[in-house]
Amino acid sequence: MSHPAIDSPGQPTPHPTRSRRAFATAAILAVSLTALATTLAPLATTPVPAQTPPPQSDSTLRVTFLDVGQGDAVLLQAPEGQTALIDAGRGDVVPLLREMGVTRIDLLIATHPHADHIGGMTGVLESMPVRFYMDNGDPHTTATYSRLLSALEARPAITYLEATPRTISLGSASLEVLPLLPRGSTDHNNRSVAVVLRFGDFTALLSGDSEVQQLTHFVNQQVVPKLTLLKAAHHGSDNGFTWSFLQTARPEVVVISVGRNGYGHPRPAALEAYAATAGETLRTDLHGHVQVQGHRDGAYAVVRGAQVASAASSGRARITQPPIIGAETPVADATPMSAPNTKLRLSVTADAPGNDHQNPNGEYVTIESMDARDIAIGGWRLCDRASHCFLFPGGAVLEAGGRIVVHTGTGQPDGFRYYMGRRQAVWNNDGDTATLFDRSGAIVLAFSY
Ligand SMILES: [Zn+2]
Ligand SMILES: [Zn+2]
Repeated sequence: MSHPAIDSPGQPTPHPTRSRRAFATAAILAVSLTALATTLAPLATTPVPAQTPPPQSDSTLRVTFLDVGQGDAVLLQAPEGQTALIDAGRGDVVPLLREMGVTRIDLLIATHPHADHIGGMTGVLESMPVRFYMDNGDPHTTATYSRLLSALEARPAITYLEATPRTISLGSASLEVLPLLPRGSTDHNNRSVAVVLRFGDFTALLSGDSEVQQLTHFVNQQVVPKLTLLKAAHHGSDNGFTWSFLQTARPEVVVISVGRNGYGHPRPAALEAYAATAGETLRTDLHGHVQVQGHRDGAYAVVRGAQVASAASSGRARITQPPIIGAETPVADATPMSAPNTKLRLSVTADAPGNDHQNPNGEYVTIESMDARDIAIGGWRLCDRASHCFLFPGGAVLEAGGRIVVHTGTGQPDGFRYYMGRRQAVWNNDGDTATLFDRSGAIVLAFSY
């Protein structure tokens, strides 16, 4: 069994020219791939060269569900800068990757050869260096698949990895490849390459277009851990979940990668199941890009829409302190109430018109500036006493003498209004504390009522 480490110099890796043969073989005789891939590993002696210095050095693992319409393209960015791309949508995903600051892919995974997962992959291979490529070894008859295979064959330096159970390091995160149903025993969706991503206590499971058969297989194989994040299988189809799978995984957050489609995705039954088992469900068709920022302690924050790209383009705005959404530790209790920033004023409108939980945008926090200068607040956090936090996107500015409003619910931020993206009220009507932290985690201002 090979355990290639994506960024560990000295680890063995399959020989490039042999891996090229593996690609050619996949076209004609997919069945032999398992044997080939297994025999390749012991031959390997080539150390993986050290990478260029990581472009970021914070402690956040980023899982970004790119808004590629109906399809999947999930970008993983390790704290040390390594990248993996799981599927590449149907169309051209390269501009989105560039927006995210991605210039190379360490590990490219095709979950299964359907066009809404591999359509954009040839473009990725033609546009940036890719080090490792993984698929399930199952060929397909489409022109899209043939194009992908040609692009791979033209790049012998890419090392092929078959999706057999193994663990791959992605910086300080790891990817466990889950066992697949036997080749030929089921359809493409039910042999989707599936991975469990781990970063400390943060766990995520991504499994392409898995349907009931594959999800049941994972539960029976006891490979489904308690999850922080679940990528809804098969675009929120009602065959993309089972109750036993969800009850085993107990995800805190579910993300559905879905666009306009004729299948009725996401299905009401799936939405209800996710609502019943997870804290929140996000959808790329409603929220645009969805980025889940995971931390070692299991805490996570969600950034969405235009905020995802702007956070990527503003390196300094990257958080150095974990945002506390999803964490248990209360922060506001430790807040010193003295020495506030006298140039900022904060107020909370906690009582929304009507039922607060049905009108989360009816409650909001207003931050006013009496400062004569603009203040860059990208990377700052606004938290309630129970540690529900909002992370201001990179590039956010509180203008001199101006003010911003942070609503609890969802909406498009416009530089004046921001949205915490929550479905339920956050600010207690009978008393709470709003604390504003700067990028370093220092308290700028705390307001109790
Ligand atoms: Zn699909
Ligand atoms: Zn599919």
